[in-house]
Amino acid sequence: MFFYVVAGVTMGLGLYCVITRGRGRSSRRSRPSLLFTVMYWLYSKTHVGYWYHRHLLTKAREKYPDGHSVTSAVTFGDLKIQPVAIVSDNYSYVVMNTKRRIAVVVDPSDPEAVQAYVKQEGIQLAAVLTTHKHWDHSGGNHALKRMFPGLPIYGSATDGVPGLTNPVLDGDMIQVGGLEFHVMSTPGHTVGHVVYQLDGAPFQAPDSLFTGDLLFIGGCGRTFEGDAATMLKSLEKVSSQPDNTIIWPGHEYTLENLLYGETIDGDNENIREKLRWTKDRRKARMATCPSTVGDEKQHNVFLRTRDPAVAEAVGMATRRLTGVTEEFQASVLAELREMKDKFKVST
Ligand SMILES: [Zn+2]
Repeated sequence: MFFYVVAGVTMGLGLYCVITRGRGRSSRRSRPSLLFTVMYWLYSKTHVGYWYHRHLLTKAREKYPDGHSVTSAVTFGDLKIQPVAIVSDNYSYVVMNTKRRIAVVVDPSDPEAVQAYVKQEGIQLAAVLTTHKHWDHSGGNHALKRMFPGLPIYGSATDGVPGLTNPVLDGDMIQVGGLEFHVMSTPGHTVGHVVYQLDGAPFQAPDSLFTGDLLFIGGCGRTFEGDAATMLKSLEKVSSQPDNTIIWPGHEYTLENLLYGETIDGDNENIREKLRWTKDRRKARMATCPSTVGDEKQHNVFLRTRDPAVAEAVGMATRRLTGVTEEFQASVLAELREMKDKFKVST
């Protein structure tokens, strides 16, 4: 009994470290601690992580019986995209072709919530798209395969996605029920992280990007399995898309991200305005998704590593903007990320 108590407490503390703080406890640019490495391995590579995910899911359902945020669908003709608020701050997205009554779901880590939504809408679930292996994104894959026999599970061929049936690579196209998704490899958060770009043209809509834990509104994911240079390239793949591209992030982190952004570039009116809007929304627990590439380039400091104000805020003087190199930008991104890991919202 004593062993299980000690093991449980140790695991809980370790996973708490993994989930909430990542490498933030280590010093700047230092290697992750042994405890972090072991706990991350247990979380991401074994079913210990799955059990922990189910524990968090149960707790979140008790705390938020109707979901952590109030969401609303976005519709363009026969295209409907419905965010589903799951766990304590994750989003799954049900992408529907309402004319054909077919849906694809992105990162459905609460399979029961997705099943209930599909039943309520009376649509056929035709595929699962997984951005990466972390259980809060992939933890519903096995259960959904059991609920919907033959359901294809898409995800990176290199990420170890649970329940994977249809591995994808950078540049692949996925066509399901009149919905066409383009796969972009975006490593950094995990080694095989991908984002999915939905072609909006058939619906006279902008493209939509489901960005998982690569890009959030006002923020970006932690670099668990890649360095800052890798993350920078992945972020640039997204920021180089047309400004009207719609961003659907994997988490509701907007308020904390913008509060951090304000500490970096407090004179930036774009950040301040978005922060005011976000505070109002969150008072009523309303979701802040979606955003757009154009807006993110204005208020997301992680997409502004070329900006002298951002570089200076992280202690890197920029004397010659024209001399900014990718290596320099990666250094700015690494500093930004480490400072964010240590950032705490004051209450
Ligand atoms: Zn993740």
